[in-house]
Amino acid sequence: MKPIRVIGAGLAGCEAAWQAARLGVPVILSEMKPKRFSPAHVYPGFAELVCSNSLRSAQLSNAVGLLKEEMRRLGSLVIGSADKTQVPAGAALAVDRKAFSDLVTSRIASNPLITVREEEVAEIPADGVTVIATGPLTDGKMAESVSALFGGDQLSFFDAVAPIVDAASVDTSIAYFASRYGKGEPTDYLNCPMTREQYDVFYDALLHAETAPLHDFDAEAQKEPNVFEGCMPVEVMAKRGYDTLRYGPMKPIGLPDPKTGREPYAVVQLRRENTAGTAYNLVGFQTHLTYGEQKRVFGLIPGLANASYFRFGVMHRNTFINSPSRLSAQYETLSRKGLFFAGQITGVEGYVESAASGFISGVSAALRALGEEPIDFPAETVIGSLGHYVSSGWIGKFQPMNASFGLLPPLEKKVKGGKRARNDEFANRSLTAVGELGKRIFGNPEKEGMNRENTD
Ligand SMILES: Cc1cc2nc3c(=O)[nH]c(=O)nc-3n(C[C@H](O)[C@H](O)[C@H](O)COP(=O)(O)OP(=O)(O)OC[C@H]3O[C@@H](n4cnc5c(N)ncnc54)[C@H](O)[C@@H]3O)c2cc1C
Repeated sequence: MKPIRVIGAGLAGCEAAWQAARLGVPVILSEMKPKRFSPAHVYPGFAELVCSNSLRSAQLSNAVGLLKEEMRRLGSLVIGSADKTQVPAGAALAVDRKAFSDLVTSRIASNPLITVREEEVAEIPADGVTVIATGPLTDGKMAESVSALFGGDQLSFFDAVAPIVDAASVDTSIAYFASRYGKGEPTDYLNCPMTREQYDVFYDALLHAETAPLHDFDAEAQKEPNVFEGCMPVEVMAKRGYDTLRYGPMKPIGLPDPKTGREPYAVVQLRRENTAGTAYNLVGFQTHLTYGEQKRVFGLIPGLANASYFRFGVMHRNTFINSPSRLSAQYETLSRKGLFFAGQITGVEGYVESAASGFISGVSAALRALGEEPIDFPAETVIGSLGHYVSSGWIGKFQPMNASFGLLPPLEKKVKGGKRARNDEFANRSLTAVGELGKRIFGNPEKEGMNRENTD
């Protein structure tokens, strides 16, 4: 059988390649690293997490928690590998990013049906079943090729990255270990407490700090970059009002300082980056300040006066396709059967969502290669709902979307017990559908042998 092509070994591309191989279809996976790196990628391994090391909530009452459980049950490479490389993070699933990438890379490399090519692919291949998963930072000739395919109609926004500090440089006579409301292990988070006076000084410095110029972007974007609400730079958030940070990333609720027994006026949380606990990232502190200003302004945070940085925050432009009426709910281009897109470039937003779209694209591309029609992933599942959203959008301008219960069709009956009970019902309905879906795609592994095997 002619192999399918998957371009880009990020979260989406790796998941797509793996799922296609599970269906017995050979795959050629092309990745430009380590020959060339995007401005956000630094590690040669596959499925690199470019910013936070968190795959967000692990709870089923949260839409991204449910999405992970759906993918886990369907045999996702990304979620299976994240489970194996997780670091404690309270109610979230966070990973040791290097161990995670290494595990995904070695699983892909040792899959007999996947051939890896270290190459930059300059344009969309003219024929054959193909998945384009080159990510939100797709540039150069490939970006031109994607743009030409869709008549030049590309959308974009800006996405920022939070800094990572050396744990040994944090002053733990000030910062204290604690998880919010005591959930999870106390060592998951280091907390830097602020008094009102300290907050005022910090807030004022942040408001007036210097941001880095946005390279290659037009004057309009320089004045008012279109930032993603869910990943807004901390300095942009601060401009929305004095208390915005205190109700957002600097919320002190549930984090009493053991020295006083009281909640501080504000708190900066540092989340553990790796199993060894040698690196911590500043939660919600994605930023576009110049490096010098990051050192100066974040140095005003109690406990971080002498912090040394493994990585400073940066901001990049994300490009995505104006997908509604161009892609199907299986991420296949309506204008060319057999050509699929996957990942953030389709207008899904987030690590898990990108991998989820890779899952659907990989399965659907394999079915095309096998001469079958792609199957529908039900809208009652979070994984399916994202595909449905991308193919149809909502009223108004198409915007990237995280997993959300708002994407699911309403429940058939009213549920008593508030939001939590309603979300539990969404989860029950979805996981029942996922059980059926898994059997439909991969059959019953006990009956069908190892061809459509699970990840473990
Ligand atoms: C700066 C930034 C910060 C982000 N922070 C977060 C975050 O904290 N949390 C979160 O959930 N999401 C975050 N996102 C959003 C999103 O989840 C990630 O971008 C995610 O990595 C997208 O997965 P992907 O597979 O679509 O793309 P990527 O992970 O970017 O993978 C694309 C791969 O394709 C390769 N490639 C590109 N072009 C070519 C080519 N022509 N030929 C061959 N290979 C190619 C790249 O080297 C890369 O390995 C962030 C995005 C950006 C840009």
